[in-house]
Amino acid sequence: MRKNLVFVLAAALPTAILCAPNRASAQLPQNAPQNVPPIAGFPADAQKAADSIEPEKIRAHVRFLSLDLLEGRGPGTRGDKLAAEYIATQFALEGVKPAGENGTYFQKVPLLAVHTLEDKTRFALEPATGQPLELNYGTEIVAKDQTGQPTADFNAPIVFVGYGINAPEYHWNDYAGVDLKGKVALVIVNEPPSDDESFFKGKALTYYGRWTYKYEEAARRGAVGVLIIHRTDLASYGWDVVRNSQAIEKSYLQGDPDATLRAAAWIQHDVADRLFQAAGLGAADDQIAKAGKPGFKAVELPVKLQAHIESRVRRYDSTNVVGRVEGAASGANAVLYSAHYDHLGIDPDAKGDNIYNGAADNGTGCGILLEMARAFAQGGARPPHDVFFAAVTAEEQGLLGSQYLGMHPPVPARDITLDLNYDMLLPIGVPRSVNLGGADRIDFWPTVQRVAKDFDLQLLPDPNPMAGHYYRSDHFSLARVGIPAFSLDQGELFEGHDEAWGRAKSEDYVAHHYHQPSDEYHADWDFRGNAKLARFGFVLGWLAGAQPKPVEWKPGDEFEAARKKTISGF
Ligand SMILES: [Zn+2]
Repeated sequence: MRKNLVFVLAAALPTAILCAPNRASAQLPQNAPQNVPPIAGFPADAQKAADSIEPEKIRAHVRFLSLDLLEGRGPGTRGDKLAAEYIATQFALEGVKPAGENGTYFQKVPLLAVHTLEDKTRFALEPATGQPLELNYGTEIVAKDQTGQPTADFNAPIVFVGYGINAPEYHWNDYAGVDLKGKVALVIVNEPPSDDESFFKGKALTYYGRWTYKYEEAARRGAVGVLIIHRTDLASYGWDVVRNSQAIEKSYLQGDPDATLRAAAWIQHDVADRLFQAAGLGAADDQIAKAGKPGFKAVELPVKLQAHIESRVRRYDSTNVVGRVEGAASGANAVLYSAHYDHLGIDPDAKGDNIYNGAADNGTGCGILLEMARAFAQGGARPPHDVFFAAVTAEEQGLLGSQYLGMHPPVPARDITLDLNYDMLLPIGVPRSVNLGGADRIDFWPTVQRVAKDFDLQLLPDPNPMAGHYYRSDHFSLARVGIPAFSLDQGELFEGHDEAWGRAKSEDYVAHHYHQPSDEYHADWDFRGNAKLARFGFVLGWLAGAQPKPVEWKPGDEFEAARKKTISGF
């Protein structure tokens, strides 16, 4: 009973009082007020508004959203609804206007969760001549039926499509001349090897290399299934990662036009070997090598895939929470700030602490989003154009809430000039470096560099371009519909410390707390850094909205075509 009482109180009272118990810990970093430095083109009243951003207000939001009461904010759960209601209530208290459906703050996100019934699911390779080859589920193949139907049965020809990429900007199309309708695409993960920046961005991974792209591209071509060949060096993780991620329930957006495969599967490298041998094409590695060279031609194999898949399916809804601060002018050049509020919920089978509180991931991003919304709404400065704030759901399920937001933006995508995303910023001090992966893809980059310098923030290059980090956070969902977008991540250099200190802190978090029940709120956390990056983002958004013309992708960027499409409407 007491527990519930505490909860009701929390919703009713303004945040200030909540901070009381933290006042002691708030003393720690009191000495250095962190104001916005003078910045060309950034007006004094906006400076005052950005200066009003308070670390302790961010703390209050993080503390609340990561309470056990919120039960790990799993999409579709009670904790999810509580978090969404909290965020909407804060928007209302801050004077942020509703920008969801039907005059509310809420945008319903219809989801479906699929769990493959492994003991009832069967796969076999059927060569034109010779015996069928039964595949062992789990050790040789894993799969998901994306359609949400309880059973799938098919027996379809397999077409080897190499890397399965259609990239007009690189004059590369593995699907040239083949019809995939009702067939199974056999495809290699990653992309053709390159050291040339102008060809598949050299060593950096493009979206074409991501496993999700392989499924989407084949689905768009009417394939019934996809077999991704796993090789540890190409995937940059072992079969165990594939196995484990496929063993749990996976969610999709209901009606997602790119999630129509009856079998979205991975096969082990040696299964690919046996498949190519059965087709008379020798070793898999030879075929993989050939597929990376210009002139590769897709080939239908004299082997069929016979599949029987049974799935446990559940349909459920979650919510994006969207608010708007009115600008001096509406229409084009609006700015969007995003952060996911969902996390991993509760693991009913786990012993001991089984609540995934998600304090850093992504209580911090939500706290920053709410405090920025307050500063824009109450700071006394009217932004040049409308500013939207979106707390999105189901990020942990595959960026689904932001995908839905990208498909149903609060204003047409062409009218949004920039999306700035916040995800997991450890509150451990004041950063002096940032990682803005993807910000150099847009023509706003010189302004980003200038303002970062003013904020005493070193710009770090992507530490691991081959991992494709740009495609793993919510800004990517907006980029896919053409909106220039990137995330503001802090680097490893913090005031009063060397880089090794920052690195040790983030490595410790990733090793012991990332996606663990122990990602919990700490009273001794220092939120001045979150506040600094909120002010930094405030300034960037303001300047982007104040530009005479919208932000654009640099010529030739993989998202430039999507932008042109949203602007021209076709
Ligand atoms: Zn996250």
